[in-house]
Amino acid sequence: MAPTSPPTILKGLGVSEGIGTGHFAIFSRSVQKVPTPSGAPSEQSEILRYRQARDEAEKRLSRAAAQLTRELGPQQGGILGAHALMLKDALFNQEIELLIQKGKTAEAAVEMVSQKLADRLSAGPNSYLNERSSDFQNIADEIIQELSGVSPLSLLSELGEIILGAREIGPADIVELPSNVKGLVLETGSATTHATILARSLRIPMVVGVGELLKSAKEGENVVLDGGSGQVILAAGMELIETHRKHLAQSSSGPAPDSIMQGDPVLTRDGRRVKILANVTLMRELENLDDCHPEGIGLFRTEFLFLHQTSMPSEEEQFERIRRVVEALSPRRVVFRTVDFGADKPAPPHLTGASNQASHDLRGIRWCLEHLDFFRAHLRTILRASRFGSVAIMFPMVPGLEIFRKAKAVLQETIASLPLDERPRENSVPLGVMIEVPSAALMASGLAREADFFSIGTNDLLQYTVGLDRQDPTMIMLNTFLPPSLLRLIHFVVEEAHKKGKPTTICGELAHVPIVIPVLVGLGIDALSMETSWIPRARSIIQSVSFEECSLLAKQALEIETLAEMKNLLEKASPY
Ligand code: PEP
Ligand code: MG
Repeated sequence: MAPTSPPTILKGLGVSEGIGTGHFAIFSRSVQKVPTPSGAPSEQSEILRYRQARDEAEKRLSRAAAQLTRELGPQQGGILGAHALMLKDALFNQEIELLIQKGKTAEAAVEMVSQKLADRLSAGPNSYLNERSSDFQNIADEIIQELSGVSPLSLLSELGEIILGAREIGPADIVELPSNVKGLVLETGSATTHATILARSLRIPMVVGVGELLKSAKEGENVVLDGGSGQVILAAGMELIETHRKHLAQSSSGPAPDSIMQGDPVLTRDGRRVKILANVTLMRELENLDDCHPEGIGLFRTEFLFLHQTSMPSEEEQFERIRRVVEALSPRRVVFRTVDFGADKPAPPHLTGASNQASHDLRGIRWCLEHLDFFRAHLRTILRASRFGSVAIMFPMVPGLEIFRKAKAVLQETIASLPLDERPRENSVPLGVMIEVPSAALMASGLAREADFFSIGTNDLLQYTVGLDRQDPTMIMLNTFLPPSLLRLIHFVVEEAHKKGKPTTICGELAHVPIVIPVLVGLGIDALSMETSWIPRARSIIQSVSFEECSLLAKQALEIETLAEMKNLLEKASPY
């Protein structure tokens, strides 16, 4: 037997637990060439087909440009923005439509014109323009992808079970992944990007930050990926694959039976109640709720109702989806976070018009206040659905009182504008503020006076407090060991809220970290909201501690001034 070379092991950060096995495939936005459609379409219908595909390609490029600008800066985003503009170029369009009028298919015309322009640029004396010649190939690929209706993601579904590798991947791509993707491995990334949060929500094992993966891995080779330890084994032998499959079968045979029944309160040993709630990002996660018995949904990320849609859902469609969530949870409460577009979740162009660049820089509630018609309709859908169960609303990225008051006034006007039989019972719903930026934390006293509850979004609060992007791979250290600055902010917020009798939840990723949970309990937090897969473990941690011990631990932690000391304290105090 020929000797086999040993597998290569890459080490990254395990950000979504679970083991995946499959053939390695690379996720890339470029498409393979597709055959031109058969039959003889009329020239006019072919021109229309071309224009539609071009417009869709333009929308997609503008959306991707805004996302890249956010993630990597204006230089990188500008490249795609320029591609979007090139699609509108009059000469480019005229030449393509002329060829279609002469009987060419739209695909062939796009291919021929872009090739001609690319050749012209690469033949000239200007080296900058020579380099730009590939841009025409890229935009031709975009239009042809639209014409064929084939996306790089749908091509993946034909490859059998795969582990997908990429330099980076956006949240919208994760949503569209076919079910044969058994694991994700990225060269970049961190534990708190929205792509990672989604992978966890969808229970896709994921490892990020493996460095130059795409150089070391070959498409088609066997890969084992462990989203817990962060190991990725390339060119794994069949024996190894089988061992991992067995392990996978055993661990997926279900968690140990949970003695908690739906509705039972979760208590510490000495009787302190801490609610355990679910974070829900996608409608399909509702199916996971039965297994883990959350006391409600503490964070429903409504922007995902819009993000992966190709057109704007009507108000009735939005309402129906929200109502389904409310009815599924009733009588338990659902907290709907109003849309948080911006950063790595730019608003789709069909909501804003592709040219509305200014709004791409706004996030959360500020974006909504710039798009009042959309915001009012969005609020109406949630308010109307409140009659079907128990609903609360919270606003994301609130910086302080002025903006909160403005948004609250829009909510109150919207309630008043509804017919009596569609208004929420008692004419109001509980209204919360997400504490995600230091200014909101520092102004907690006034906000607590005017809001009904707080929910601390530690993913954003951490990045804005320590000045490190949440996509940064080193964030994992901070998110695991609770930087003293973040702890002090949380403490301050909880105290201010409690002085006004207002409950506070933590809904960022910190809420499920086993060694941090006792400290959060000790601070007096009222609820922890997390992705469903973490709930059983968080519940048993709370049941195993006493509030008295936790308060003591929190007191000690509040004295600490460095991350290293905090790590020491938490590791010593925790059996996990
Ligand atoms: C947060 O910032 O902690 C949060 C829960 O919101 P998101 O992760 O959606 O930004
Ligand atoms: Mg946030």
